[in-house]
This record gives sequence, C-alpha cells and structure tokens, in this order.
Amino acid sequence: MIVMKFGGTSVESATAIERVAGIVRDRLPEKPIVVVSAMGKTTNKLLAIASAAINGERQRAIDLAIDLQDFHFRESLRITCEQERQELERFLNVTFQELKELIRGLVVLGELTPRSIDAISSYGERLSSVIVAHAFRYFGIPTEHIDSRKVIVTDSRHTQAAPILEETYSRLAGQVRPVAEQNVVVMGGFIGATEAGATSTLGRGGSDFTASIVGAGIGASEIQIWTDVDGMLTGDPRILPGAGHRVRLISFAEAAELAYFGAKILHPATVVPAMERNIPVHILNSRRPQVEGTRVVAEAVHCANAVKSIACKGNITVVNIHSTRMLMAHGFLHRIFEVFDRFETPVDMVTTSEVSVSLTVDQPGRLEDIVEELSAFAEVEVDPNQAIVCLVGDNIRYTPHVAGRVFNALGGINVRMISQGASLLNLSVVVSQDDLVKSVEALHAEFFRELDPAVFD
Ligand code: ASP
Ligand code: MG
Repeated sequence: MIVMKFGGTSVESATAIERVAGIVRDRLPEKPIVVVSAMGKTTNKLLAIASAAINGERQRAIDLAIDLQDFHFRESLRITCEQERQELERFLNVTFQELKELIRGLVVLGELTPRSIDAISSYGERLSSVIVAHAFRYFGIPTEHIDSRKVIVTDSRHTQAAPILEETYSRLAGQVRPVAEQNVVVMGGFIGATEAGATSTLGRGGSDFTASIVGAGIGASEIQIWTDVDGMLTGDPRILPGAGHRVRLISFAEAAELAYFGAKILHPATVVPAMERNIPVHILNSRRPQVEGTRVVAEAVHCANAVKSIACKGNITVVNIHSTRMLMAHGFLHRIFEVFDRFETPVDMVTTSEVSVSLTVDQPGRLEDIVEELSAFAEVEVDPNQAIVCLVGDNIRYTPHVAGRVFNALGGINVRMISQGASLLNLSVVVSQDDLVKSVEALHAEFFRELDPAVFD
C-alpha cells in the first residue's frame, strides 16, 4: 500500500484533477490511499472570508463565499458521473449553506478564535476530498471517500493541532486499511478532529503531515508527495530561478533541516512519522510525472558534495542582548529565553558569548514587549531586515574547510551571525536582507560547481 498526497495546485481545476486520476490509475496495483489539499488557493480565500466577516464586511464575505461556491460547482460537475451528479450537488449545497451560516455567526461575534479559524479553514479539504473521490469514479477508479475528521484525532491546540498518534494509528489500521484493500481511499489532508469532535487543523501546509501520519498508520511502503516542482533543489527557486539542480536523494535528517529553514516544499513535521516507521518519502511533480523527483530515505546518503542544498529564510529579525552584569553569573540564558517563552515567540537561531547573546525571530509581533522586559537586565538592540542562509548536508561535519569556503565565497558580504554544530549537518549564517540573493548565489556557485551524479541531476 502507498500514500499519494496531491497539493493544492495538483487539484486546482477539473483538468488538474484529471491528470491526478491518470497518475493514480497507473499505480492501482500498489493500492494507493490518496490525501488531497484544498483546491488551489481555497484555504487562503477561506481565511480572507473569515477576516471580512469579523470586520463587519458581511456582504463581501458572502460574495467571496459565493465565488468559491461557483468555482467548486463549475470544476467538479465537469468530472462527475451523470448518476452521481445529484448527490454531489446536494453535498455542495449543504456544505456551502453551512459555510454561509458560519460566516453569519462570525459577523455577529466579530471575533475569530483559533477554533473558529479551524472550522472555516477546514472547508477546503472537506470539499476537495469529496470532489476528487467523485472524479476518480468518473475516470473509472473504484474509490471510497473517508472523512479525515473521523480518523485523525488531535489535541485541541486549534490551528496547530498535534495528532494523538496512538488513537489515530489505531483508527487508520482498523478503519482505513481494510477499505483501502478494496478501493482507492481519498481523504482530505490538513484536517482532523479533537477527541470531543471539534474540527481541528494541523497548521498551514499540513496535508503533507497528514500523508505521513496516514502512511505510518497503515504501514505504507512509500509516501508520495505530489507537488508542482520536480523535487528538492540545491537552491531555493525563488532566489535562484532556474539555477538549482534537483537533489535525487536526501536523508530524513537533511530534509527536516531544509523544511524548518523555509524550503516550502515539505511541511516540517512531515518527516517525523515517516522516519519513525522508516517509510521512504518521495517528492514528485504532478505536471511532469516522468521526472524521478526526490527520494527522502532513512540512511545517510553517500555524496561527494559537502552540501546537499542551500535554504534560506528572509525578513527575520536579529535581537542582540548584552549584559556585563551577567559576566560569570548563571541563569543569563534562562532569563532571556523565559521572556521569549512568556510572549510565545519562537527563536530560530542563537549564538552566544560570555556577556552577549544574538538570536533570530521570524515572528516579531511581540518584540516590543520582549525588549521592554529584557531591558530590565540587559542592553537590547533589534535589527530587522536580516536573512538566514542555511547550508545543509550530512557531509558538512566530515568535510574540512567548509567554513573557510563559506567565508571566501561571501567575500565582502558582512556576516552577522554564524552557527554550526547543533545538528552537525547544518551551517547557517545571518546576512542583511539586501545581501540575501548575492549570498545565496555565491554559496551556490561555490558548493555546486561540481555535482555528484549519483545524488544530483
Ligand atoms: N490547504 C492547507 C493550506 O493551504 C493545507 C495544505 O495544503 O497542505 O495550508
Ligand atoms: Mg504544501
């Protein structure tokens, strides 16, 4: 059995879904379970509807919902059998009726709680999964839809819910696997429900994570993530358009580092369930299914290059904290991180000296409060408009001169922070946002001048 996850662009229209049906049909002997994202940009549109609703723009919210409704009707009815048409129309009508009631409720409340965000953002996958299941039958694939909210059980941290794995795995093995023995199962990604039955979501981009959980729960032989790019690249395509090379093979540990550092291709939590059960993850392009993609595997990947890929995260803020009073005293780091914790602000990268700490955050919303608290015991300086550039590769730890090559390549570019060691396979530098493109270009040229053909395309 395999899991095949298709992202938003892969199911953005009737034509795209037809392409997906072709890809799935070719793999029927492997008994696929299909996990789908919302169609196209539906999740963003649902969130825009929610903000309009709570801002009192009732008519605008309803109009946007009607656009979404027209879009879903138009695309889905083109790929539904005559005898199932009525049933699908009924489902769409009921679902959009519900959505409009929810919008009216939000208008009245004028407030958006995490729980109501989940209620509204779940509609994308609730719709797409039913539509794709109908479409598969239209294209001759015996298919059964299963509502993910009956299977993926989560805690109640709405908008970032964590799956309760034991219960979820037991439902996947008991309720999904037997159905998937007979028919192709289609499920919505991203969504689940709490033990009390409230709709929850796993966080933006969470459909990849759903695919990995499903794969682990049913004991899949492979988890395929079908997206709109050829796989992981040696450099971020937004920064190096056309210049990156496809990485054919990468380890779970490397893929996890890249996902954390802004490589948008995989949700950062995706690799965890797959890694725990040693199930390979395969990233593929639904528009070019003949391309072999990127394989993410458990073992370290032998590679002549020190670096597998360069990721980056722009628009981050560096906070420099300095206190001579803390010289030789214990508890300095504790006091600093306690403040960030209290204001629920994640810290990404840290470097320290005896009396100073530099760290980066990418959610600066509470920074003013944080600085005020820190100023009670330290001098604080905030530098916005910075960027992290992150070199990832299992080989970095075994290869001498990597740091030398980094600094050489960066030439006159001012490096604000540097960090290596924590995960052994990651070397990160912070540069000013203005130097980001230049830095990535220079590092990419340095580390990918020659390519190990076993690993790179
Ligand atoms: N539809 C959700 C989102 O846009 C989940 C996903 O596509 O993975 O974040
Ligand atoms: Mg995604």
